[in-house]
Amino acid sequence: MSLRDLPPVDALAAQVIAPRAVAVAAARAVLAERRAELLAGASDAADLPARARAWAEASGRPSLRRVLNATGVIVHTNLGRAPLAAAARDAVLAVAEGYSNLEWADGERGSRHVHVEPLLRELTGAQAGFAVNNGAGAALLAAAALAGPGKEIVVSRGQLVEIGGGFRVPDVIAQAGARLVEVGTTNRTRLGDYAAALGPDTGAVLRVHRSNFVQLGFVEDVGIESLCELGVPVIDDVGSGALDPIHDEPSVRRSVAAGAALVVFSGDKLLGGPQAGLLVGREAAVEAARRHPLARALRIDKLSLAALEATLRLHRDAPEQVPVPAMLHATDLRARAERLAAAVPGATVIESVARVGGGALPLVELPGPVAVLPDDSLVQPLRRADPPLVGRVEDGRLLLDPRTLTDEETDLAVALLEGAGHL
Ligand SMILES: *Cc1c(COP(=O)(O)O)cnc(C)c1O
Repeated sequence: MSLRDLPPVDALAAQVIAPRAVAVAAARAVLAERRAELLAGASDAADLPARARAWAEASGRPSLRRVLNATGVIVHTNLGRAPLAAAARDAVLAVAEGYSNLEWADGERGSRHVHVEPLLRELTGAQAGFAVNNGAGAALLAAAALAGPGKEIVVSRGQLVEIGGGFRVPDVIAQAGARLVEVGTTNRTRLGDYAAALGPDTGAVLRVHRSNFVQLGFVEDVGIESLCELGVPVIDDVGSGALDPIHDEPSVRRSVAAGAALVVFSGDKLLGGPQAGLLVGREAAVEAARRHPLARALRIDKLSLAALEATLRLHRDAPEQVPVPAMLHATDLRARAERLAAAVPGATVIESVARVGGGALPLVELPGPVAVLPDDSLVQPLRRADPPLVGRVEDGRLLLDPRTLTDEETDLAVALLEGAGHL
């Protein structure tokens, strides 16, 4: 085949079943690609209509779409962190379908914050609270509201951490306009270190949970109760949003009870809700954050707010229905592991270990049964499947962990695996 033999755009487009604009775009793209191949010396045969149909199909597929997570990593940041509970999904749909009372109270202008504040108060014991766009935003807002320009924020050297790309505690404080005052050492900070650093310009003491790493050995930290007795506002960035203690994760309720001015945490880590950042604490501090100009820049949107309200409601009324904590505690995984294994010749079920992920509980191991495939030959085909199925590779074998799959998703995964020979 030579350049001269390439069909006209219209002729190729006519062989693509799609809206005309898509068919033409597909034909143009495939012809351009083929032209380049021929100029580069290609001499193979090419099924241009098939290519154009594949192009059209791919262009109609959303970029952001469902993935089957069989990695066992529960709060998988790259896979969208927390799957939402059914009630949260329903709430999103109801608000997305039409208009809503987002900022409307009996015909008067209202505040979007009223939809979650009572639940936040109830669940955390705080005097007040509201939600912004994400946890990083909540931390930045807390720092700016309680200590901005001209003020100092006191932080232990052991907590000047990086949580993930672009979120480093010293940078957050600088962005808030405050001056960082470091106290203690990398491994040991005592109450006296904090006390010695307080002065007329102190805006707040900031405590930051280490989230994605731990320090072992000769270490010493100051508890939240002692920090709150220093007599200055305390911002406690607890990270994952565990309402009650889970392993070593700091509990929101404990920090509130200790008297922290603002406790900030993420909506889509252990709380298991939508991407959001929560700020709860003392009335005056919450009000200062709510009125800060950054609050408007970081405000939560209605879909997230709907999902957040529903998730908080479940934490109060039926916590077992929130997927993330449910996966954390799941014990009924064997049947699903066996169904996955039965779909692939030579696959078996072994005991393995899943992780929480998402910068929470870095050392916690979640033992459970997983399907193990004989090798890793299906890794790529399954990644390219629709929906993609992602597992974890250990020792050259593909492991599929049912902990992060629902029953329905297991059905889908089984169907993919049974057809995997054709992928
Ligand atoms: C995850 C985390 C954040 C950021 O929260 P996002 O919701 O991811 O923006 C901030 N601080 C700590 C301690 C965290 O663990």
